[in-house]
Amino acid sequence: RDLFGGARANSQGVELGDRAALAAFASAIEVGRSGAALARPVIGGRARDGAARDVTSPIDGRTVAGRVVEASLEDSDAAMATAHAAHPAWAATPAATRAAALRRMGDLMERDTGRLVHLMQVEAGKTVDDALAEIREAVDFCRYYAAEAERVFGAPIDFPGPTGETNRMTLRGRGVFVAISPWNFPLAIFVGQISAALVAGNTVVAKPAEQTPLVAAHATALFLEAGIPAGALAFVPGDGTIGARLVADPRVAGVVFTGSTEVARIINRTLAGKDGPIVPLIAETGGINAMIVDATALPEQVADDVVMSAFRSAGQRCSALRLLCVQADVADKMIEMIAGAARELKVGDPRDLSVQVGPVIDAEAKATLVAHVEATKARARRTHLAMQAPAEGTYVAPHLFELGKPEDLGEEIFGPVLHVVRYEAGRLDALLDAIDAKGYGLTLGVHSRIEATIEKVVRRMTTGNVYVNRNMIGAVVGVQPFGGHGLSGTGPKAGGPHYLHRFATEQVVTVNT
Ligand code: GLU
Repeated sequence: RDLFGGARANSQGVELGDRAALAAFASAIEVGRSGAALARPVIGGRARDGAARDVTSPIDGRTVAGRVVEASLEDSDAAMATAHAAHPAWAATPAATRAAALRRMGDLMERDTGRLVHLMQVEAGKTVDDALAEIREAVDFCRYYAAEAERVFGAPIDFPGPTGETNRMTLRGRGVFVAISPWNFPLAIFVGQISAALVAGNTVVAKPAEQTPLVAAHATALFLEAGIPAGALAFVPGDGTIGARLVADPRVAGVVFTGSTEVARIINRTLAGKDGPIVPLIAETGGINAMIVDATALPEQVADDVVMSAFRSAGQRCSALRLLCVQADVADKMIEMIAGAARELKVGDPRDLSVQVGPVIDAEAKATLVAHVEATKARARRTHLAMQAPAEGTYVAPHLFELGKPEDLGEEIFGPVLHVVRYEAGRLDALLDAIDAKGYGLTLGVHSRIEATIEKVVRRMTTGNVYVNRNMIGAVVGVQPFGGHGLSGTGPKAGGPHYLHRFATEQVVTVNT
């Protein structure tokens, strides 16, 4: 079955190796740079004014990415009221019409590639490669969920019954969904959450991460341009107090959240503590993701895949590799190759096309990472890599520390800091137990040329996304449905065939004819 409904496959993006395409892209970014960026609350299609603050850029201490007017608590209440009032009409809109709006949204993001890349660079510190991949992912979410909506909501499902009885199931949206998205994918996850909720027949109140309101504001404008009715999508930039207010509202029919496990728990408790209906939470959180490399793995490939998985996006992906486990017999050689490959990385201003590692999101993230690096330096068995980062801006350079055992890494470190441990050939089971005991289940990598080892790992581990003999980031919509369980989230997987169901209610009508 064609996962994208026959119309198109995954978004093609921009081929930067092609000179003509590169030149066109460079001028699109140039155009994208012009014009001030301003994010304001948008409720019922109307922007609200108020005092604006600067959105500072992680690139350096001087660049201001734009300005944001944050939503007040009254704005967030008004957004909820508007979305609540708009729900019946949107739910009654045919699935094909809702899907058509999403497809237009996909096209509009491709049209605005230059502007979106510029905003992702200055606001989130994304490299060009990361920004382009993120636009592709956002476009894919729209087209994939559009096709899924036609499948899931387009036609009722009939069930057999005794003679003289019909049984028919229909799915429809639940009501108002609150969408709370992270700064690490300010476009793709923002758009993915909203597009799924909308196309399933819900209205949405969207709160982007405090650090990245500008990309989200642009995406919101595109949703409305694409034909999403003004009442169906409200935009309320702000900090956690806005999120807390929205989640506590009695009119919420569902929450979709990507961020930390800690915040997911708070949301879960808030929802559970309210009177009234039991409200679903779809949460995607973090992971202490491991990769297992045995003695049969190909060293060059391992080096490339480790560097990509641990350091791309400055390690700020929830899928990123945190704990590398190398069979002791080959560990010295593997670690040396990995450190060597990592030393080739260029860390710096992400607007420079040759840079692979940009800044981390803000000063607070940098301070946390620097504290971890310092503490780990003191207790690690060895420091294999400690690169230098530019002093200005919020850069953290790649580091590779060797620890004694998997238990020595107790928490998710959200940045370009990799930890490696050695394991003895006969101790694979114990290693898998130790990884599993961390309680996360998002991504896992395996590098081995022994079929039985791969099978054993896959059988033993229930991790959401397992990558064999390749890197372990960059799940593609409709190709590697993405998400984990345990401390890593609730599922269902984003970009997969079961996602939309969680946004819907099911009704079965039995008629005695
Ligand atoms: N889906 C992304 C990936 O596969 C990660 C999403 C996240 O970091 O939240 O790399």
